[in-house]
Amino acid sequence: MAAMEKPENKGARGLADAFGRRITYLRLSVTDRCDFRCRYCMAEKMQFLPKREILTIEELSALADAFIGRGIRKIRLTGGEPLVRRGIDELVRLIGRRVGDGLDELTVTTNASQLRKHAPALAEAGVRRINVSVDSLDPERFGFITRGGDLAVVLDGIAAAREAGIAVKINMVALKGLNEDEIEPALRWCAAQGHDLTLIETMPLGEIEDDRTDRYLPLDGVRRRLEERYTLSPLDYRTGGPARYFRVEELDARIGLITPLTNNFCDGCNRVRVTATGQIYMCLGHDDRLDLRKALREGDADELDRLLDRAMRLKPERHDFRIDTPGAAPSVSRHMSVTGG
Ligand code: SAM
Ligand code: SF4
Repeated sequence: MAAMEKPENKGARGLADAFGRRITYLRLSVTDRCDFRCRYCMAEKMQFLPKREILTIEELSALADAFIGRGIRKIRLTGGEPLVRRGIDELVRLIGRRVGDGLDELTVTTNASQLRKHAPALAEAGVRRINVSVDSLDPERFGFITRGGDLAVVLDGIAAAREAGIAVKINMVALKGLNEDEIEPALRWCAAQGHDLTLIETMPLGEIEDDRTDRYLPLDGVRRRLEERYTLSPLDYRTGGPARYFRVEELDARIGLITPLTNNFCDGCNRVRVTATGQIYMCLGHDDRLDLRKALREGDADELDRLLDRAMRLKPERHDFRIDTPGAAPSVSRHMSVTGG
């Protein structure tokens, strides 16, 4: 990579799209690879990107700096599984240096399979909160959903994060007939452990073996069922993402709902996503993208700036996910593991 001048603070030239939304949150995918094959996320046999196309750690760090220079205040590292990326500790250290210097928060979404090994480095770099995906607390079911994941290892990874002083939010994709009977137990487990829980509606991203319509569980119904037993009081609490939070009064717990299908949240969108090959996607639910890699590899900071300005003009108003037609092709052909969650 050609040396790129560290961009001066261009906070005044922050990123805003054509609908007046300020973009302050970057989800940066560091790899499309993963050691799990969650059934709703990936096909069993996935074709991964050639390694030469993937940005180096240095390039990812330079890209993060460029975004911070344009007013990005929060970065979430994701994937694929970010902790299987070689050099991840170094990347976290490099970006972590910007926390308090342009960046408010650096965080990670992980399946926790490698978390015990990496938790100390994350904490050291200034990561204070992470999201961990746990779709079942039953070892056999967990193994089934993830196609081979080991729940005990994941729970040990979560314990390691807590030992390192990192708060954990559990992500659970709500899946009809797979884990819907576990939602309430998961809520109680999270309450007992001191984790927040966020439920996510499955989104039609990429071809998989299952028909997502069969597994789709609308969260408005889940909420109604929970309200038969618990008092869910809406909260103003936000973490910068799309979740809407409720206090579960009887458990003194917090639950978040991410409802791309039943309750569109695009009005408040503050995010863009960059893949591990340097493609910026302005919306998870659209195919429009711009290639940042060439400008990055050539060290052309002005071109990178121009591309970010163009990206803002291209950001669509809202996603258009549909999941109601059995057998229909997914709304978007790329998997969530490419763009990152
Ligand atoms: N491997 C990490 C993990 O699983 O947490 C990070 C990447 S994963 C793509 C990020 C989040 O997206 C996870 O919470 C996962 O459950 C969720 N996810 C993956 N595919 C999805 C889909 N089709 N619909 C909804 N959520 C999905
Ligand atoms: Fe891997 Fe995360 Fe996708 Fe599961 S959801 S296959 S852990 S990227």
